Amino acid sequence: MDTHLPPPRPRAAGHTADPSAGIYTGPFWEQARENFAVIADYLGIEEHNRDRLLLPKRAIVVSCPIHRDDGSEAVFHGFRVQHHLTMGPTKGGTRYAANLHLGEVAALAVSMSWKCALAGLPYGGAKGGVAVDPYGLSRRELEAVSRRYMQEMIPFVGPKTDVMAPDMGTNEQVMAWYMDTYSMYQGQTVTEIVTGKPVDAGGTVGRREATGRGVVHLIGRAMERLRLNPAETTAIIQGFGNVGSVTAAALVQQGIKVLGVSDHTACYFDPRGLDVPSLVRWTEAHGTLAGWSHEALSDPAELLTQRCDILVPAAMEQVITEDVARSLRCRILAEGANGPTTPEADRVLNQRRGEIFVIPDILCNAGGVVVSYFEWVQDLQQLFWTEPEVRDRLNRVLERAFQAVMARAERDDVPHRTAAMAIGIERVQKAKLTRGLFP
Ligand code: GLU
Repeated sequence: MDTHLPPPRPRAAGHTADPSAGIYTGPFWEQARENFAVIADYLGIEEHNRDRLLLPKRAIVVSCPIHRDDGSEAVFHGFRVQHHLTMGPTKGGTRYAANLHLGEVAALAVSMSWKCALAGLPYGGAKGGVAVDPYGLSRRELEAVSRRYMQEMIPFVGPKTDVMAPDMGTNEQVMAWYMDTYSMYQGQTVTEIVTGKPVDAGGTVGRREATGRGVVHLIGRAMERLRLNPAETTAIIQGFGNVGSVTAAALVQQGIKVLGVSDHTACYFDPRGLDVPSLVRWTEAHGTLAGWSHEALSDPAELLTQRCDILVPAAMEQVITEDVARSLRCRILAEGANGPTTPEADRVLNQRRGEIFVIPDILCNAGGVVVSYFEWVQDLQQLFWTEPEVRDRLNRVLERAFQAVMARAERDDVPHRTAAMAIGIERVQKAKLTRGLFP
């Protein structure tokens, strides 16, 4: 089979340098573009193939009107960006955040593609969400937004087209409402339409903990390489949602001391170590960290640059800026969040490669989508696995990805992020070239 391409054709007159200009905007989209350009240069991807790899297949914007509890009506923008359908359905979370916009969603969708490909999953990337502050809604209003969002998305999603999952601001309950709404329209229960559902609504055991467990598994591998002894190791975690809290609890179980944690309501730091089980119980009861302690309260602006062995940004994107990167005092940077490091910060981290071991986001937080894949497979087969089976398979997938990233980084003497993204992008490119361009 000959998969060689003809030589690049000159760009058509009027073809702008950035065909996405004006559609996808904002600093996070720029970050996705810049990160891609670094890899495209490293891999020598020809100009005429770059847009085809980077630009999303489609973007859907909808309006989600709901009745508020006070009798008024409100309309929220909903988004879904599906990056590519080359390797199977698209896959990715739904995010509820007040300032959510299309550029951010597109950047996250692109990142999901490289993540899925790196892990060897038969998916393209997607991301979606609603521009709404979920904490400002009653439970009834949250349900109304969620059901209306899914209802608006029905023409564009499906178990073989696009499979949603939780992300920031959404949870298992929201996934259950999505599944129910989709199923009511189909006239049958379609559990495989979303992942991250409650176990009693067709979810899998181990999905809720999967991202955090994956983060901790990979931290373990990094510690082995750096010869860090858990009993003498310290950690700081930014973000105490699903990813941050599971990560903190699992690190403590391994004998690692957690010195600092934060969420959008509070930041705690204690050089002697925090009582993580108590923090977890508190957030289970109250939703956020606020009010847990007065003595341990600390300045969130200083959290990331405190001295520790393991730093886990598990909240927002673009928190590791150039300045922060220069001031980091950790040995391992485990990126639990999507896109926490800006391209400028990345250049600093590349210079500090000998000091700081980076576990890049698309590897570090891949455990979530890997177990989402397991959930989808189980739903399609209606054959469910035990928790040890889920854990064991998760570890094997992460292990393979970790070893591939390390081997690539060492072979080509490139940063871990470059190696991880290159493996993902190469796989997508190969699939696209092999399938050819239709028509
Ligand atoms: N939202 C998660 C992520 O960013 C999970 C996506 C999924 O499970 O499909 O990886």
